[in-house]
Amino acid sequence: MYLRVSVTDRCNLRCTYCLPEDARFAPSRATAEELDRLMAAVCASAPVTKIRLTGGEPTICPSLLQHIRTAAWLVPTVGMTTNGVALERLLPELRNAGLTRLNISLDAADADGFRRAARHDHFMAVLASIRAARRTGFTPLKLNAVATMDTDPAALARLAIAEGAHLRFIELMDIGIAHADWSERHITAEVLRERLASAGLAITEDSDRDEPTSRVWTVDGVDPSATTLGFITTVTNPFCATCDRIRLTSQGRLHTCLFDERGTDLLPLLRAGNLAGLDIAIRRAIGAKAPPLRFQRSGMMAGIGG
Ligand code: SAM
Repeated sequence: MYLRVSVTDRCNLRCTYCLPEDARFAPSRATAEELDRLMAAVCASAPVTKIRLTGGEPTICPSLLQHIRTAAWLVPTVGMTTNGVALERLLPELRNAGLTRLNISLDAADADGFRRAARHDHFMAVLASIRAARRTGFTPLKLNAVATMDTDPAALARLAIAEGAHLRFIELMDIGIAHADWSERHITAEVLRERLASAGLAITEDSDRDEPTSRVWTVDGVDPSATTLGFITTVTNPFCATCDRIRLTSQGRLHTCLFDERGTDLLPLLRAGNLAGLDIAIRRAIGAKAPPLRFQRSGMMAGIGG
């Protein structure tokens, strides 16, 4: 199984589909030690082989390195999803702590588009992080772009090709504040591919390269070991049948689906020292993992980590 851990719900960006400018965050969280113990408890009760740290923004979590070390001790593959703003100077330490995979979110290929999407001027910092990540040995490197009607997929694809990174377009999901204008902003993977074709990028589906959550295409004339394009079609073609993801939040709740609003509160069991109860609660939650009744979530994405 694949465990995603949201180490903080706080973020240094305010992407328009994710967090309002005056975002309110959870008043309390599990301590760093509690979060590590919960990660270990989940790994003891379920066959987890991969952990990804996410957020909010994981690079602003003071205990990030500690969580990476714990995750690296628990499983062979430790990844992180970050917006890349504060990443560059942390890269060597992250690598030494045991981080093996890196996904950097980037919704636009230029500074103006970045500001419109993220409400901050950090495009150059993210670009510098992408380049430094490759130099630090994070290859293959993945870029994640949430697609909206404003997205220029060809510009992003050309940036990914120039930087030697793989690009994954994520269909905008009806989660948190994205709900307000979701029907106007959402764009399907199919329309994105039409936009790529009209911009002169010839792409070919390569289902041998498909991943559990994305359909992968190669770009004619581009080495697929360096750059592929993927489409995460949670809206138009969900991948529940191959989903083995579970999620732990910084409040200590375990969610077995991105659209599972309630989750299971593990913290009281840990705080009471009820380790047998913790094991039962984790196994019970995972045993009940099922596709959602509807692909909608009112709670904010930053709380559950994407
Ligand atoms: N701050 C980190 C980042 O930006 O990558 C990690 C947390 S962020 C919540 C994880 C991923 O969720 C990002 O790729 C983000 O763009 C994506 N995301 C946030 N809201 C979304 C939505 N409504 N639909 C689809 N993806 C979304």
